[in-house]
Amino acid sequence: MIHYRSEDEIDLIRESSLLVAKTHAEISALIKPGVTTLQLDKIAEEFIRDNGGVPAFKGYGGFPNTLCASLNEQVVHGIPNDNPLNEGDIISMDCGVVMNGYFGDSAYTYEVGEVSEEVKSLLIRTKESLYKGIEQAVSGNRVGDIGFAIQKYVEQFGYGVVREMVGHGVGENLHEEPQVPNYGQRGRGIILKEGLVIAIEPMINLGTRRIKQLSDGWTIITADKKYSAHFEHTVVVRKGKAEVLSSFVEIEKRLKK
Ligand code: MG
Ligand code: MG
Repeated sequence: MIHYRSEDEIDLIRESSLLVAKTHAEISALIKPGVTTLQLDKIAEEFIRDNGGVPAFKGYGGFPNTLCASLNEQVVHGIPNDNPLNEGDIISMDCGVVMNGYFGDSAYTYEVGEVSEEVKSLLIRTKESLYKGIEQAVSGNRVGDIGFAIQKYVEQFGYGVVREMVGHGVGENLHEEPQVPNYGQRGRGIILKEGLVIAIEPMINLGTRRIKQLSDGWTIITADKKYSAHFEHTVVVRKGKAEVLSSFVEIEKRLKK
């Protein structure tokens, strides 16, 4: 079932999404060589609870932590651990919050110290592809228009678009209908209507689009072990222009981007 949210419901999803944004901002300045993802996870969990939210991923399907922390060739669903981050790594941090019964979901891929130009470009272009998708999230378009825009943009650089994992509706559940693939055909799929709240989240690989799952039952990695990037916003379909409910503004202020 697809839900179209009232303005009151959208306000609550926005509040949760902005708490996710603030949580990202809290950890963003701490991401440096030597820090562990488990340390960042603890800070994120405390921050969310101190601000009246509940970490949405912790316990979801048995996931053990507040953040999904996916390093380098890890695509998504990495489990925070005690290994220090190293100069030149990239770390995708995915965070969800539930507050007042409504969810917000947003991911950002961070550079650890100086990364290579090739990887820097992957991050810039993956984030850009997210905005290309968001541009299509307007009433009257179809869900395939979003995936088409993302795929068309990133494939010109020779990148691989992960297909097995997709964006999704967000609201009273972390994952709702419809699925929002990062690939597709223009004019295909359900018609987007005002009030539909979706998480758009391109997962883009430097090399092949093929992926594998590690034996921990969670972590997804690229089949060729080349780096992968992930950016995600929670957005609401509007007439003419989508509204982004999560935000990278505070993150990028702290990162001085
Ligand atoms: Mg997410
Ligand atoms: Mg998501």
